[in-house]
Amino acid sequence: MYFYGISGSNKIGGSSYFIKLGDRKFLLDMGLDPNLPGVYPKYENLYRKKLLTTMGDLDGVIVSHAHLDHIGSLPYMLKEGGKVPIITSEATKVLGKTLLLSAPKESDDYIEIFKKDEIEKVFSLINPRETMVAKDYEINLYDSGHILGSKMVEIVTQEERVLYTGDFSLKNMITAKKMNLSSIKSPDILLCEGTNLNKNTNSYINERLGFIRHANKVVANGVLLIPAFALGRTQEVVCLLKNAMKSQLLKRVPIYIDGLSVEMSELYNELGVDILDDYVKIAPNRFSETMDDSPKIIVCSSGMLLKNSKSYLYASKVLKNENNSVTFVGYQDKRTPGFKLLYEKNFNFKATINRFNFSAHGDEREIFQLIDRLKPKKVVFLHRNLKDQEEKELEKRLTKIYGKNIKFYFPKDGEELNL
Ligand SMILES: [Zn+2]
Ligand SMILES: [Zn+2]
Repeated sequence: MYFYGISGSNKIGGSSYFIKLGDRKFLLDMGLDPNLPGVYPKYENLYRKKLLTTMGDLDGVIVSHAHLDHIGSLPYMLKEGGKVPIITSEATKVLGKTLLLSAPKESDDYIEIFKKDEIEKVFSLINPRETMVAKDYEINLYDSGHILGSKMVEIVTQEERVLYTGDFSLKNMITAKKMNLSSIKSPDILLCEGTNLNKNTNSYINERLGFIRHANKVVANGVLLIPAFALGRTQEVVCLLKNAMKSQLLKRVPIYIDGLSVEMSELYNELGVDILDDYVKIAPNRFSETMDDSPKIIVCSSGMLLKNSKSYLYASKVLKNENNSVTFVGYQDKRTPGFKLLYEKNFNFKATINRFNFSAHGDEREIFQLIDRLKPKKVVFLHRNLKDQEEKELEKRLTKIYGKNIKFYFPKDGEELNL
């Protein structure tokens, strides 16, 4: 297999990888980097390197899941690639389309690249499917346990078997089926996400219990604001809170959702995962201005308090009262107001600021577990955020564990591999 990492190899954001198996050419994911507003992966490098003459030369584009960093530049396919099959799950098609259409409304930091009609057109070309059998290759999608509809991608030819994990988790979550490894055969090459390489997280159960204890304390007298990513994290946190209320581990107070989290949650309901019900309501119009400080929970995008997003507007109010808490449940990029509030603390506020780790990515233990189970011949780590020195040390550690049985690769963006 030939591999060319267009973007998202040694960074998290804007994932897109070109692979060639025999004469067959595929793109794995077409993302956007949320930290590079208005910029999409350098697809023109595929022409420059003579890997493609047009996007129409591709045999397929496979989209692992609906997060912006994996699907955000899909409308680029309309440039000469209109007839190429786009392979993805039903849920990814439904969630991805709304996410792309609504992302510009979410925050002042978002720069629109694709027009509304381009987004609508590219999604209308998707015929969702989880298997595709062609004359000389086969593609299969399997649940990857990351968010609703997230899939790993298996491509099999006569010569090779390749597995791309996309974003994955081996933890059982409430809103996503656990990664399904039951029918997967050992691949020759594993393209593996490495978000949490070098990190081992607390047990998921302990983290959830700690979070519920904390929520109980806050809603005794105040407002709990949870800035959360619109897709995935919002729904997982809401279900966790709701379940705790149902089993009387948490005092029953109203749960409101707002921002892009609302549209995404409505789609979850349509896709058969109940988010909105008697426990969870959509916040009334202008609630961030009109609400009082009576006990309640607000789960709202953006997860990083991007400027002028709904969570940013709520935070400006919630932070003024000492009974309230702003509680983060996801990754904070260094440039965002969320990061500054959490780590720099040079603001004038009275509420408490807290953080819990609900990563929907496998930690290092899970990544090793996956390798142990799949026994691939070669592993390529992508979607990773390590310093060169950390990678060298990790490589040494991996060689110690796996000896010469498995070869490991850490390509940088723009690098090619002949595997
Ligand atoms: Zn993701
Ligand atoms: Zn990702």
